[in-house]
Amino acid sequence: MILKGFEALKTFLAKPRNIVVVGHRNPDGDAMGSTLALKHYFDKKGHKATVVVPNEYPDFLHWLPGSNTTYRFDWQNNQSVKAIDNSDIIFLLDFNTLHRVGADMQNTLEKYPNDFAMIDHHQQPDDVTYMYSDVSVCATSQMVYQFIEMNNDLGLIDAAIATCLYTGIMTDTGSFRYRSTTSKTHRIIADLIDKGAKNDKIHSNVYDANSYNRLLLLGQALSNLQILPSYNTAYITLSSEEKKRFDFKKGDTEGVVNYALSLKGIVFAAIFIEDAEQKIVKISFRSKGSFSVNNFSRNHFSGGGHDNAAGGKSEISMPETVTKFVTLLPTYLTELKSSYEK
Ligand code: 5GP
Ligand code: MN
Repeated sequence: MILKGFEALKTFLAKPRNIVVVGHRNPDGDAMGSTLALKHYFDKKGHKATVVVPNEYPDFLHWLPGSNTTYRFDWQNNQSVKAIDNSDIIFLLDFNTLHRVGADMQNTLEKYPNDFAMIDHHQQPDDVTYMYSDVSVCATSQMVYQFIEMNNDLGLIDAAIATCLYTGIMTDTGSFRYRSTTSKTHRIIADLIDKGAKNDKIHSNVYDANSYNRLLLLGQALSNLQILPSYNTAYITLSSEEKKRFDFKKGDTEGVVNYALSLKGIVFAAIFIEDAEQKIVKISFRSKGSFSVNNFSRNHFSGGGHDNAAGGKSEISMPETVTKFVTLLPTYLTELKSSYEK
């Protein structure tokens, strides 16, 4: 755990400030939940906080309290840049290095004259002025709860903050099932329910919001599933053409990789998704046990993340990317075999 400059940050925040809170590109439930919760908390403390996210986030997160106040850097560029220019400090949430916001926004942030504060749970964070980094915590949203706790402000958590934090913890733990979910996580979740988070409604808002096309896309993904039993590995591909056929929308492929990991005996799963716009193949990796997909992605696919969940990208074609992936597996045979959890 790294806690850097916490007392100085407290002093800085003793006066009302203009604050921008930033989440990573392709924001997920934890990015949206943690940034919005922190915004609500800062507003309650008398600051003026604005959430700026690099690009679009899935429809199933648009119901989050405060979602309509966020700026999208790619789409509402003037407002976003103005908010950044007028801010006294920028909070970086749920990402560890500036390039995770995408090239355009990274350019703007690199010229920022004031200080950054980071609250994040990813490995190998950049060094910024104020830091709260802990890779053992399941979700940045849990860290925001703990940040509020460190400020002795748990009493300020209302239903809106509780709802945002609950959503971030729920989505980043696969609904409280991953190893990073601790008894402390459950105690925090219990407190969030006491403070007004409606657990049944949140689950339903996030997980029962499928379009018919999304289910058809999932059907396509499952029929593309390839299993490599000798490497305890399975992978899925989705081409641009298939995405188009089923009217792909942001977030439609979220969680699909987990179907590959749900196969008995599989410890390593990947999904390769063609992104015609960015001219890349976007990859999600998942593992069970000791096999580190963070290392695998860092070493071969310009990415990273956590030990059991990471992302990456490839600038060669889909078939070449898949061949590269399959060709790498023999090197990891021993690790893959010993990663198996009963
Ligand atoms: P996902 O596969 O759901 O996109 O991401 C899984 C985890 O890896 C998330 O914690 C995400 O923040 C991280 N991640 C995804 N893509 C990248 C990437 O390109 N680089 C790095 N460093 N982390 C990533
Ligand atoms: Mn997260």
